Amino acid sequence: MLVSPHEAFSHESLLAVFEQHGALLQGHFLLSSGLHSPRYLQCARVLMDPLLATRLCAELAARLQPRLRGAAVSAVVAPALGGVLVAHEVARALGCRSLFTERQDGAMTLRRGFALEAGEPVVVVEDVITTGGSTREVMDAVQARGARVLAVGSLVDRSGGAVDLGVPRESLLALEVPTYAAADCPLCAQGTKPVKPGSRPGR
Ligand SMILES: [Zn+2]
Repeated sequence: MLVSPHEAFSHESLLAVFEQHGALLQGHFLLSSGLHSPRYLQCARVLMDPLLATRLCAELAARLQPRLRGAAVSAVVAPALGGVLVAHEVARALGCRSLFTERQDGAMTLRRGFALEAGEPVVVVEDVITTGGSTREVMDAVQARGARVLAVGSLVDRSGGAVDLGVPRESLLALEVPTYAAADCPLCAQGTKPVKPGSRPGR
């Protein structure tokens, strides 16, 4: 399947792609937090197809492009582990280098000889934004090197657009993933039992 820069994904076609790849499951799930949810999201399942990862991230890059106001971004930065492939593929589309941060003594840090120059324009990306916490930490690490974050992108926005990071933000798929305490779970009230995601592994 060739990547066409003009081929846009609609919300419905993205939902279908995520569901077909088992990246978005519908049912009644017991999350590792102990909460219950009718949806389970695992972005790694769309990224495991390299051509699809390239296409999705090219689409994200295309949505980010107008937010860059003509600036030539020289690096895309993401937090390990979830953001690494997204940064790599968005950087491929933008024609710049791809870096990732890792935690060192609890702090998000650029390691492995990754360097940013003062004033360098960068984009920060993620697989999923929920509270924006880890994205903010990456932005801090980038800004500590003197580089400028022009925009933030994510494959999925679970915040309903609520997260404000102080820079323009784009996502491919805005998705509500409601969670409930067991006692308040409407699915439990209907008499079904929650399952742990991954207990029936897909191929
Ligand atoms: Zn339940």
